[in-house]
Amino acid sequence: MNYLAKRIGFGLLLLAVPYVFAQKDEALSSRAHRLHFSSIVLDTHIDTTPKLQKADWKFTDEHKEGHVDLPRMRRGGLNALFFSIYMSGTVTGPKAVNDSLELIAAVHRLTEALPKEIALCVTAEQVRAAHRQGKIAALMGMEGGHMINNSLGVLRMYAQLGVRYLTLTHGVNTDWADSSGDTLKHNGLTDSGKAVVRELNRLGVMVDISHVSDKTFWDALDVSQAPLIASHSSCRALAEHPRNLTDAMIKALAAKGGVIQINYLDAFIDNTMAAYGQKVWPRMREWMAKHPDHEDMTEIRQELAKEFGPPPKVGWEKIIDHIDHVVKLVGASHVGLGSDFDGATMPLGMEDVSRLPKITEALLNKGYREPDIKKILGENTLRLMENVERVAQRIRSTTAAPVINH
Ligand SMILES: [Zn+2]
Repeated sequence: MNYLAKRIGFGLLLLAVPYVFAQKDEALSSRAHRLHFSSIVLDTHIDTTPKLQKADWKFTDEHKEGHVDLPRMRRGGLNALFFSIYMSGTVTGPKAVNDSLELIAAVHRLTEALPKEIALCVTAEQVRAAHRQGKIAALMGMEGGHMINNSLGVLRMYAQLGVRYLTLTHGVNTDWADSSGDTLKHNGLTDSGKAVVRELNRLGVMVDISHVSDKTFWDALDVSQAPLIASHSSCRALAEHPRNLTDAMIKALAAKGGVIQINYLDAFIDNTMAAYGQKVWPRMREWMAKHPDHEDMTEIRQELAKEFGPPPKVGWEKIIDHIDHVVKLVGASHVGLGSDFDGATMPLGMEDVSRLPKITEALLNKGYREPDIKKILGENTLRLMENVERVAQRIRSTTAAPVINH
């Protein structure tokens, strides 16, 4: 009897083990859900903007294609985003200004059309207010110094219209800054480039060093009175790509209060994919110049697979590895999210914005503290915006506006 009772007891215990684990998983995923959906989740780089210009594409509809729309944002808990004002760096002069204004107008129109859902924000406090009201905070970042057409006056007008970061270059050099995607020409920032950084500081527009050459990064860090962002870059220690930041750069960025927002692009988070990316990049660049909004990349991907073999498979967990790398290097106060949704190939498991809660759950699972996860999800970027706003106020209260535009 005694033996039988023991057997039954042991059997019950065995039955209970999976139950206990299931309970633990349940507790973690409901904790993750509560944490994620009560946080400000802010993405500093989303390329959905050109779609807003199309009459037959609605932000409020759920789409099978692409990565971002309102229903999927709600499901993914993304409640603050920087719409990228982007065009290829080969578009310059008045056309770049004209096209930038049209992209900015599309963001303004979106927020005007959906006042109950979306608020156009230009300060960290406005982002917090939008969150309190259950609205999505829409911000704008300009992806490339070529769009200012070498004019600080044009830059000031972009700031007036709500642009809150300027990426100093895109994939090609500007007249005043070297890009990581081009042959180096200026040895970093020229004097005009340094003047652009100083003007960004005065305007309260964040200086974004994603896409720039290493020397441009160091020059910008040296000149800027405010902390910098890397709006959509990952770690070079984990994926050897010139678009990513070295450990030394991440440390220096953090030491000045800056934030690196991790890019989910498969070639920026995985070394095998980075090597493949380097191989196919010249062909890809050619194609991108011909298709500036690079929306449907199926055709070029098929061509590249034929010529170079199929690309390696990359899982979304690599995003967590990059976040964790930065945290181990400089702590949890200097990393954020900069997906590159609608502008990049996503890793498996991060097919669109609706998958974002997985990031929160994975960080909790890794043992991260809830306040640190909140920082990574959005608070770090908001703190940085507040710093940039304070620096701008200080500069404007002590220095007269420059009289020249160029
Ligand atoms: Zn980019």
